[in-house]
Amino acid sequence: MKTLSDIGLIGLAVMGENLILNMASKGFTVTAYNRSTDKVESFINGRAKGLSIRGAFSVEELVQSLERPRKIMIMVKSGAPVDATIEQLVPYLDKGDIIIDGGNTHFPDTIRREKYLAEKGLHFVGAGVSGGEEGALTGPSIMPGGSNEAWLAVKPIFQAISAKVDDGSPCCDYVGQNGAGHFVKMVHNGIEYGDMQLLCEAYQIMKEVLGMSADEMHEVFKQWNTTELDSYLVEITRDILAYKDEDGSPLVEKILDTAGQKGTGKWTGVIALDLGVPLTLIAESVFARCISALKSERVEAAKVLTGPTKSFNGDKAAFIEDLRQAVLASKIVSYAQGYTLMREAAKEYNWDLNYGGIALMWRGGCIIRSAFLGKIKEAFDKNPSLNNLLLDDYFTNTVVNAQDGWRRVAMSAISNGVPAPCLTAALNYFDGYRTERLPANLLQAQRDYFGAHTYERTDKPRGEFFHTNWTGRG
Ligand code: NAP
Repeated sequence: MKTLSDIGLIGLAVMGENLILNMASKGFTVTAYNRSTDKVESFINGRAKGLSIRGAFSVEELVQSLERPRKIMIMVKSGAPVDATIEQLVPYLDKGDIIIDGGNTHFPDTIRREKYLAEKGLHFVGAGVSGGEEGALTGPSIMPGGSNEAWLAVKPIFQAISAKVDDGSPCCDYVGQNGAGHFVKMVHNGIEYGDMQLLCEAYQIMKEVLGMSADEMHEVFKQWNTTELDSYLVEITRDILAYKDEDGSPLVEKILDTAGQKGTGKWTGVIALDLGVPLTLIAESVFARCISALKSERVEAAKVLTGPTKSFNGDKAAFIEDLRQAVLASKIVSYAQGYTLMREAAKEYNWDLNYGGIALMWRGGCIIRSAFLGKIKEAFDKNPSLNNLLLDDYFTNTVVNAQDGWRRVAMSAISNGVPAPCLTAALNYFDGYRTERLPANLLQAQRDYFGAHTYERTDKPRGEFFHTNWTGRG
């Protein structure tokens, strides 16, 4: 083992341990430290035995075991534990040393910490890490933000341990200054919420409108995974539907229909509202989890709020293809919205985001990995200043061609009383975005009527504001 380690890692829980093992497997020497040092002992004598991993039993020992500039990755519970860990490290560090937070941190915290540490001459990298336990061990998607100098120092390690796409490109590249990495990871998580909810809506429509069994739906997702929808989430949905409980019935049907959430979807929705970005699909996916959580209320409401009798008498195979088109088009809308959010945030926070590179980082190693992301990369490679993904030729054609089926599915869900909040929100966004004249003229008139908020006129230059005394009263 080298006398000094290449990197240190604090936090020997699921993610930390697996990242260390991944680093060691790529030839790096790592020092492992954890607040409860019994975990250091058991890790060193267990999974880390015989590998290029040394344990440290104090922060000082950890720091002293590292090559300069020191690189220390924190993988502890997000929030106050990250601040506490930083405070413990600072007294032992020298100018130019680098602290990396690889947790699920909200990006404003990363902006704050980066500024605080920069004043002390220390670098701070906020790196979003996706892919869960398995990704951490075998190759996650890593989205690092911070100073360029710090990025260049951590790049060889991060790119070596990250997932790779077919041509060998790493699913890790520089995202941007300070909180940019954690912002992009947050959008990734929001998109994950949306993708998952879309597949859930497709499942519900197949089950409730077409009356399909789990085995039949398994076959549908299996087929979808050979199309543009080829993705990790379609793959696991396919497998979940085939999984049988001990009595031979599908396990998924025995799972309580109440979804949990840790907050990253909510963060994405909140910042979209703050920045005025119509991120409707992700917002609906968060609300869908909220409504799912109202289980006991729903059970009561179901007794009195009666809906239509469900019926379907069309061509089932054709409808399933419509459904596939609806999911695809909605997914495109979701990414278009997510990318618009990143573009607005880049303006707000002065980040120079590499949009194609972000698609590449999501191409492997993470939950939203899919073939489709290759098309997003191509779109931004062709036009780095693309305003809306829907305006790229490939996506324009795909969505326009999908719309007939998409509308049939939306109508069927609505007429059968089956909720499809994301599929329909996406269609509404599509229709809103492609509508030259929206009814906001009336809205402005209303605002002017009750609040003298003024309006612009179509027959006068932009920037000239008018007010009308709508009642004629003085
Ligand atoms: P975790 O359960 O979130 O956190 C446990 C770790 O945090 C332990 O090492 C614990 O040390 C440490 N810790 C807690 N409070 C502390 C404090 N006040 N001071 C110092 N250390 C403290 O671990 P995880 O699941 O491996 O996740 C680590 C980070 O990665 C989190 O931000 C998480 O959101 C993110 N993440 C997780 C996943 C996943 O699939 N699990 C995926 C992507 C990202 P002790 O042993 O001493 O309690």
